[in-house]
Amino acid sequence: MFGRAPMRSDNTKYYEILGVSKSASQDELKKAYRKAAIKKHPDKGGDPEKFKELSQAYEVLSDPEKREIYDEYGEDALKEGMGGPSDSHNPFDIFEQLFGGGGSSRGRKKRGEDVIHSLKVSLEDLYNGTTKKLSLSRNVLCSRCKGKGSKSGTSGRCYGCHGTGMKVSTRQIAPGMIQQMQHVCPECRGSGESISERDKCPQCKGKKVTHEKKVVEVHVEKGMQHNQRIVFKGEADEAPDTIPGDVVFVLHQKEHPKFNRKSDDLYVEHSLSLTEALCGFQFLLTHLDGRQLLIKSNPGEIIKPGQYKAINDEGMPHHQRPFIKGRLFIHFNVDFPDSGFLSPDKCRDLEAVLPSKPGKQLSDKEVDECEETTLHDVNMEEEMRRKEHRRQSEAYDDEDDDDDDDEPTMHRMPCNQQ
Ligand SMILES: [Zn+2]
Ligand SMILES: [Zn+2]
Repeated sequence: MFGRAPMRSDNTKYYEILGVSKSASQDELKKAYRKAAIKKHPDKGGDPEKFKELSQAYEVLSDPEKREIYDEYGEDALKEGMGGPSDSHNPFDIFEQLFGGGGSSRGRKKRGEDVIHSLKVSLEDLYNGTTKKLSLSRNVLCSRCKGKGSKSGTSGRCYGCHGTGMKVSTRQIAPGMIQQMQHVCPECRGSGESISERDKCPQCKGKKVTHEKKVVEVHVEKGMQHNQRIVFKGEADEAPDTIPGDVVFVLHQKEHPKFNRKSDDLYVEHSLSLTEALCGFQFLLTHLDGRQLLIKSNPGEIIKPGQYKAINDEGMPHHQRPFIKGRLFIHFNVDFPDSGFLSPDKCRDLEAVLPSKPGKQLSDKEVDECEETTLHDVNMEEEMRRKEHRRQSEAYDDEDDDDDDDEPTMHRMPCNQQ
């Protein structure tokens, strides 16, 4: 039929690659391929070229028709369009067909997604440490079918996608140009398997996973920080052939009405009366663990408005070394008495006690020749707010101008012209 038969080329190489005799049965071929494929798989550090050769060899020899051509005429005959292995074939396809779905695809397990929760904690929680019990719900492999989804433990190949989990559709976008699009198979939702109605596991209804509610104890340790992560390894959703992701709690520290935290230091505001600022004070401060701290001025000490003082070792505990603590800073505000509080008599008494007024007295001549002014009350915060508002609205007007400039260019676009 060929006139002259094609030149004989090498027809033993494929058998050598698989390490079987020319008379090997289909079963022997399969076994040989399995053994070699696991060893030579690129995921296991094998050479991708070698793996491809191996897959090619098996692809040909496992197909009786192709094997016959190969035995008779060798590799070249197959390359000449007699249905041989083409380079476009994915060597992993065969591997997946033999190993996919089974338990031996361990090396190709994908990792599931992490689940992130925000966990609100008070500053007291972070100071003292606490344990929070939280209820989590997650998917676990069905206990009845061990995640197989079927009573028999087997599943068939999905007809919709031939087991690949993906469907390819093509459409012509221009003469001679075809666009290929890949999407998840809707019939098997990407699993590549189908389980007959009768064989579906009654517990998970073929879904392979069931819902589980679980209470976890989250240990918030002394000195942990805002945004610190507490990780529960592998506690996220289980799925077949998937390494479950982690459940991660991210601490979110609620604002405290009294204390402010900066790393391991605490800040607290305290207002003193003018008398306390000048003549001394003492007060009680309730700490985050409920202890009452007595805070008092040193003898003769005068506190100025806005001044800071620090108490050592009363800040936050250091995480993992809770006996080391930061500092507690106190920011003092001084409340002065209101205008009119001092009568002229009391003023004279005070002047006698307080440091004398600075500078010289003005002479009558100086007072006669200068211009008198009036001091008005101002609310400086309000003034600044008004200024900022005016600045912003001016900036906004500027932006509007820019938009107006853009518009004519837009209209010049020839969108409606034909
Ligand atoms: Zn089940
Ligand atoms: Zn499918």
